[in-house]
Amino acid sequence: MAWKTLDEMDLAGKVVLVRVDINVPVENGVVTDATRIEKIVPTISDILAKGGKPVLLAHFGRPKGKVVPEMSLKPLVPALEKALGVKVAFAPDCIGAPAKKAVAALAEGEVLLLENTRFHEGEEKNDAELAAAMAALGEVYVNDAFSAAHRAHSSTAAIAQILPSAAGRLMEAELKALEAALGNPARPVTAVVGGAKVSTKLDLLGNLVSKVDHLVIGGGMANTFLVAQGIDVGKSLAEHDMADTAREILAKAKAAGCAIHLPVDVVVAREFKAGAENEVVPADACPADAMILDAGPEAVAQIAKVFEASKTLIWNGPLGAFEIAPFDAATNAAAAKAAELTRAGALISVAGGGDTVAALNKAGAAADFSYISTAGGAFLEWMEGKELPGVAALMH
Ligand code: AMP
Repeated sequence: MAWKTLDEMDLAGKVVLVRVDINVPVENGVVTDATRIEKIVPTISDILAKGGKPVLLAHFGRPKGKVVPEMSLKPLVPALEKALGVKVAFAPDCIGAPAKKAVAALAEGEVLLLENTRFHEGEEKNDAELAAAMAALGEVYVNDAFSAAHRAHSSTAAIAQILPSAAGRLMEAELKALEAALGNPARPVTAVVGGAKVSTKLDLLGNLVSKVDHLVIGGGMANTFLVAQGIDVGKSLAEHDMADTAREILAKAKAAGCAIHLPVDVVVAREFKAGAENEVVPADACPADAMILDAGPEAVAQIAKVFEASKTLIWNGPLGAFEIAPFDAATNAAAAKAAELTRAGALISVAGGGDTVAALNKAGAAADFSYISTAGGAFLEWMEGKELPGVAALMH
């Protein structure tokens, strides 16, 4: 891999600008979920251990290039101090005199947090001047914000062209997991793609059929594929105008030697609500007044067999309406199977994007997956085969 890690960088006595994603939920000035802050601890601790002085660059909310006091990063200082166990200073701007002064005052063993990069209009335009002003504060650039890597911004892309750059530990872990799943994976590789709509996941499906050996399609989008095969899905969520597109994807998969797995049986109900009366029917026998809300037990058994025959699994999207029991059954069962095979060392399992993390957490399976990406959009764009500007910028 062409990007450097912290291991290859000499950081002793150097000011290290670290782009982090600490866009955490805050209520009444208090951080309510510190997960994203906790995730940057390995990187900051390693920089401190190497004698470097970490200076954090981060965005918060969408101030759209203006100073919005409610979107200041300052209230995050106590949560950062708690997670990092060191003093965290704060500078009221990420460039210029206030930032320079704070960097100069930074003692070894301390961390400095700079104000929201998006208070500057240039940030989201990947402005070179803004990047140069940030770069002037330090000697090394580390990007640990994989979840912001699908955006070409001054603090994620342009700055990496100016300073010697490396991936932080979180970025490194994400890139290694993704490389193991789609870059150079152990085969056979299976992808699970579920969720509501085909239309939001066209690029994803298009890329996956040319890369994976098995593609399991679930959730509302499976209904669209059933429609594409001339099956009546009653009142189910389905994009009837996407039938041609679904047929194109099926043809592309066939040409690429990718086996597509659609549910052979389904769980149908007349109401979209928890505990709604339901029944299992063959996939081509949805009653006209009912809707498909989950994959059936036979479909789950088939998915389990596909998982057993696989060495790598990459998963995005639930297999059914997982928020409302009992329509979470297929998602839970398939997730449990993937967790079991991963625990046994038989499967490398990577999941992420949108509702997937919530669905796998709810299934109690997340902890056993090889890697769960919390990066959302960046994870999806990577699965779509797109180049991530923040990662590309580290390759020089
Ligand atoms: P996405 O954000 O595209 O990953 O879609 C996730 C959403 O799809 C969740 O809110 C699920 O409840 C919903 N979903 C999954 N399967 C179905 C289905 N068969 N009918 C309606 N909604 C579904």
